[in-house]
Amino acid sequence: MKKIIIAENDPNFKNDIAAQPGSESFMRCFTCGTCTASCPVAEVHDEYDPRKIIRMAILGMREEVLSSDILWMCSRCYTCAALCPQNVKFTDVISILRDMAVKEGYAPQERLDQARELDKAIQSLRCKIIDSKLHPDQSDSKEIIKALEDELKKEWQ
Ligand code: SF4
Ligand code: SF4
Repeated sequence: MKKIIIAENDPNFKNDIAAQPGSESFMRCFTCGTCTASCPVAEVHDEYDPRKIIRMAILGMREEVLSSDILWMCSRCYTCAALCPQNVKFTDVISILRDMAVKEGYAPQERLDQARELDKAIQSLRCKIIDSKLHPDQSDSKEIIKALEDELKKEWQ
């Protein structure tokens, strides 16, 4: 496990986040874990943990958070925000962190657009697959495979 050296962290990071509309209450987090337990991404990704991202942000781990691939895994479903007992709007916090990552040069602007487009494409694909399960006689599995292949071919920066 990597050691956290507080003196090397950025004490202003949490204040920069809290200054943005939507994340004013994020420091109220008392690490109950409800967000992580209810998150559909955490359910399938071992490394994804919204509670941990908040803790790292509060500890001032600016570079680790903003440069992390994990930041782009959230599907922005708002489940965590709806269930948080401390009214932390983690979905908004993630959006703010992504914006900060772009502004501070940790990620290119294109990645924000790509993440939005991918979320839309995934929902469309999900609807197509459910439809094909409900109506197998009317479904076109080639269309689903093609849509999936098209997404996989797109490059991410
Ligand atoms: S549910 Fe809210 S209070 Fe609990 S760990 Fe997540 S953000 Fe923190
Ligand atoms: S908004 Fe993101 S972190 Fe929150 S439950 Fe949905 S996928 Fe998980």
